[in-house]
Amino acid sequence: MIKEKNIKEKNTETSGSISHAYLGNNVVRGIPSSGGMAFGKALVLHREDVVIPTDRINPADIPKEFKRFESAIKTLINEFNDLLERVKNESANVGAILETNILVLSDPILLDSIKTMIEDGLSAENSIINEFAKQTSFLKKSKDTILRERAVELDQIKERLLGIMRNQVTDYSLGKHAVVVAHVLTPTDLVKFKKVGVLAIVAEIGGITSHCSILARSFELPAVIGVHNICDLVKTGDSLIVDGYNGEVVIAPDKSDIEQYHLLREREYDHKKELGEIVKLPSVTLDGKHVKLSANVDFPKDVETAIINGAEAIGLVRSEHLVISKQFFPSEDLQAEWYNQIAQRAYPRTVTIRAFDVGSDKFSEGLPYHEDNPALGLRGIRFLLKRKDIFNTQIRAILRASANKNIKFMIPMVSRVCEMQNSLKMIEKCKRDLEKSDILFDKNLPVGMMVETPASAILAHSFTDDVDFFSIGTNDLTQYVLAADRSNELVTSVYDSFHPAIMHLIKMTVEAAKKKDIPVSVCGEIAGHAAAAGLLVGLGVDELSVSASILPELKMRVRESTYSDAVKIADNLIQCQSCEEVKQALSIT
Ligand code: PEP
Ligand code: MG
Repeated sequence: MIKEKNIKEKNTETSGSISHAYLGNNVVRGIPSSGGMAFGKALVLHREDVVIPTDRINPADIPKEFKRFESAIKTLINEFNDLLERVKNESANVGAILETNILVLSDPILLDSIKTMIEDGLSAENSIINEFAKQTSFLKKSKDTILRERAVELDQIKERLLGIMRNQVTDYSLGKHAVVVAHVLTPTDLVKFKKVGVLAIVAEIGGITSHCSILARSFELPAVIGVHNICDLVKTGDSLIVDGYNGEVVIAPDKSDIEQYHLLREREYDHKKELGEIVKLPSVTLDGKHVKLSANVDFPKDVETAIINGAEAIGLVRSEHLVISKQFFPSEDLQAEWYNQIAQRAYPRTVTIRAFDVGSDKFSEGLPYHEDNPALGLRGIRFLLKRKDIFNTQIRAILRASANKNIKFMIPMVSRVCEMQNSLKMIEKCKRDLEKSDILFDKNLPVGMMVETPASAILAHSFTDDVDFFSIGTNDLTQYVLAADRSNELVTSVYDSFHPAIMHLIKMTVEAAKKKDIPVSVCGEIAGHAAAAGLLVGLGVDELSVSASILPELKMRVRESTYSDAVKIADNLIQCQSCEEVKQALSIT
């Protein structure tokens, strides 16, 4: 438990043992839990290990123990209610977390069980410890990351209760303009440190799904968690640079580290100013229709830009960029690490990873064939089902990175139902294999498909039993519908995604999807055309996934429009005979 007197100077000598996360002379690495950068002096919070006597209490003291326990519960509920009152207008996330904590403390089963132990002669402290141990033992053994993190949160509630019983007081004012470094932080700590103006958070434990991380993101506080041994590596007063984007902490930075930090901060500041307030506002039309706006990313580092620009999710990860950058098909471990980085940086947003869409048009290195017509050749799922070894490795890596349940998997270039069904069979087989090896993954990993061939759009209704979502790839759909190579400049005037035929196929896909309640996104370039947003939304598309830099403008369009007008626009424009007519109506030159 944190206490003013525990915020003490500590020797930085670390008995020679340097954390495995230690990268260089002065940089330690953890999980990037909340984006942003900070530079300031450390405030190291050390936990006090209190030994609680296990002797049974005198029967005459039982009523007194009851009172102590009940008063501690009441104090903590009041503390949470008080925080709830202070933050309720700031963040729904924070409110929900505090409400969950109040529910835990009001749980009659938990309260009765503790009271029974006190009646049996245990001290209030020991009864609390025993009961919480009982409640968390099952969670701690769970293979589910999120459940294990719930156990950490229950432990935090327990620690706070015990702290109240021991009259421990934390002087949060010491966090002003400091980087708080701790073993673990509770929601109360976060809320109170935020109020006094803490600069950043670094913690030894906690995962990206922990309340600590969620709160840090809600408060826009840079945070790095899971930094092994940081409380031993740093002493109060040390200078630290916290890079919440990359999960790095620079201890005692030198002149060039500080210069680099200021440079990055300036860039971040300018960028945020440019985007203004729009990134924080919801993507809702004037008549209340939510249009999900997501980002397409190619590499883990792109996630940061996507979040700064207000992406609600990562709607498309073109995983083949990993292959192209390496010039070979990476191992399962390397892939799992790459997917995991993207998923962690984006959490709690979802990330839709598309299976390698390689073919000789995108990647010829190492592919033992030459195709005269690669766009119509062995690409996407066709290639993957021919090279099941490569597909299998990718599926396993994606499953391994999915334990936090924010990954979706998408199959590219589908034109036949059997391709989707064979992919699903392979995914199921990989799940069984991972289960046998006790490897964690999301058992309900959503699997969807790109709609980018005319066949898949026309037969969308035939796929709805097998998929969890559709994402329309208008880049390829346009080239296949109009028989115009997307990379041949001689036919750029023919290759036009505003062709009414494309509108009809989008409409068909949406209609099939709606019958089965399946969400539809558009992730091709047309989605990034601000003027087309109304048309796509009017056609019934739920989500637009675009380059991050386009998101603010797109959101502005959504917020200035009405859904009812969008439907009318779509109804009108689908009657058009040519791209020119459509574009003229949308004022696109
Ligand atoms: C598309 O075809 O629209 C798409 C998003 O995929 P890619 O551009 O990678 O082929
Ligand atoms: Mg495509």
